[in-house]
Amino acid sequence: MQNDSTELQIGDRFPLTIKKIGINGEGIGYFKRKTTFVPGAITGEEVVCEVTEIHDTYLEATLHKIRKKSSQRTDEFQKLAEQVGGLELSHLKYPEQLKVKQNILRQALDKYRPAGYNNYQINETIGMNHPLEYRNKAQFQVRKVDGKVIAGLYKHGTQELVDLPEMPTQAPLTMNIINRLKPILEQLDIPIYNPEEKSGIIKTLVVRESHAFKNAQLTFITNSKKLPKKRELIELIQQEIPEVISISQNVNQGETSLVWGEDTQLLWGEKYLQEVINGITFNLSPRAFLQLNLQQTEKLYDIALKYLDADESSVLYDAYSGVGTIGLTLAKHVKQVYGSEIIPEAIEDAKLNAEENSIKNADYRVGTAVDVYNELMDEHIKINTLIVDPPRTGLENDLINLILNQQPDKFVYISCNPSTLAKDLRQLTKKYIVEELQPIDMFPQTPHVETVVKLKRK
Ligand code: SAH
Repeated sequence: MQNDSTELQIGDRFPLTIKKIGINGEGIGYFKRKTTFVPGAITGEEVVCEVTEIHDTYLEATLHKIRKKSSQRTDEFQKLAEQVGGLELSHLKYPEQLKVKQNILRQALDKYRPAGYNNYQINETIGMNHPLEYRNKAQFQVRKVDGKVIAGLYKHGTQELVDLPEMPTQAPLTMNIINRLKPILEQLDIPIYNPEEKSGIIKTLVVRESHAFKNAQLTFITNSKKLPKKRELIELIQQEIPEVISISQNVNQGETSLVWGEDTQLLWGEKYLQEVINGITFNLSPRAFLQLNLQQTEKLYDIALKYLDADESSVLYDAYSGVGTIGLTLAKHVKQVYGSEIIPEAIEDAKLNAEENSIKNADYRVGTAVDVYNELMDEHIKINTLIVDPPRTGLENDLINLILNQQPDKFVYISCNPSTLAKDLRQLTKKYIVEELQPIDMFPQTPHVETVVKLKRK
C-alpha cells in the first residue's frame, strides 16, 4: 500500500503531540496526518512514541518517552496498568477521567450525528468519591508456578498469568478471599489447570461479595466434574474464610474462549448470595448478572427513575432486564412492570426476586426484547413507559422499528457503549427528541462510559 508513511518501519520513533483521548483510553496524535494511537499518553503531552503496527489508515505505537508531561498525570498504578487490563485510564487524575468520559460520549455523537446532536445537553460525568475498590466480583484465572498457586489476570495480549495479590479496583473482601484461598489450594495440593499440558482441574476462581451483608459467593470453574479432596477443601474454607457462605462448582472442559461452562452445582451453603439495591433484596445465583459497581448502580437507577418520570398510570417495559434489578426497584412507582431477558435462569431469578420482595405488579418473561414486546402487544397490553439497557451491541433493528411504531410516551435508554448509542439515536430521533444525556462512571480507571438518556416523544 502506497502512502506518505511507507518509509516508516516498525520500531521507528518520532515525536508526537497528543490531541485527544480515544474511546479505548489511548492518546491520539497525528503523524503526517495519520492517526496514531498511543496507550498511556495524555491530551496536551509531547511524547516520543515507537511504532508497533502500521495500518493503511492509522498507526499503533507505544509511549517511549514523555517530553512534556501533563499536569493531569499520576503514576500510582503505572506498573500494574502496564501489565493487566482494567486500568487503562489510571494514569489520569480522577477528575480528568470524568471529563474524558464525557468527551468520549461527545466524540461518538460527533461521529454518528443523530438529529440535533450539536444541541444535546450532555451533563458532567457522575463519579465516585472513592474511585477504587468498587468491583464486587473477582474472576481470576489460576495457575501453579514453582509449587505456588497464583491467581490473577492475563498480561496484555498474552496467555501469561500475572499474579495479583492486590488489584486497586477490586472490593477488598474479594481480594482478601482469593488471597486466603491460595494457601488452602497449596496445602491440599489440589490439581491446578495447566493449559500447556492439558492437565489439572481448577481453572478459575470467582468470588462475588455482597456489599449489604459483607459475605461472599465462591465458584470454582474446573476442567472436569471431578474435584479431588472436595470435602477437605470445603471444611478448610468454612474454618478459614467464614465470609464465604456459598460454594459452587462450574464445569468448563478444555480450552475455550468462554470462562464459564454450562453446568453449575452447589457444593455447599446457600443457593443464593443476597444483595440489596435501593431497598430491594436480590437473590443471585452464581452466574446471574449483576452490575459490578453497586454504589454507582444505585445512582444509575435513581437517574433512570427521575428521567422516566413515571406515575401510577405507567405501564413499564424493562427490556434487557437481567435479574430484574431495574424494573423491581421501580415497581412501587408504577402501575405494572413487564420485563424480558434471553437467559432463562435470569428470568427465574427475576421472578423469585419479585416474589421474595412481595412485588405483585411485575411480570418477567424469557425472550428477546422485540419478541416479548410483540407478545405484549398481542395481549393488548399498552406499554407507555420504556426502559432499555442493551448489551454493548446496542438495540436490534426490529426493536428500534417497533419503538418507532409504538412510540411509548416515556423512554429511557441506558447504554454501556457510546458508539452504538449514538448510532441507535440516529434512528430513534425520527420520533424522539433527546432531552438530556447523563454519563455515569461505573468503571473508574477504565475507559468504559455508561450513559442514561432521556428521550421525549416529538
Ligand atoms: N438491566 C440489567 C441487565 C443489563 S445487561 C441490569 O441492570 O442488571 C443486558 C442484558 O440483556 C443481559 O442480561 C443479556 O443477557 C440480555 N440480553 C441480551 N440480548 C438480549 C435480547 N435480544 N433481548 C433481551 N435481553 C437480551
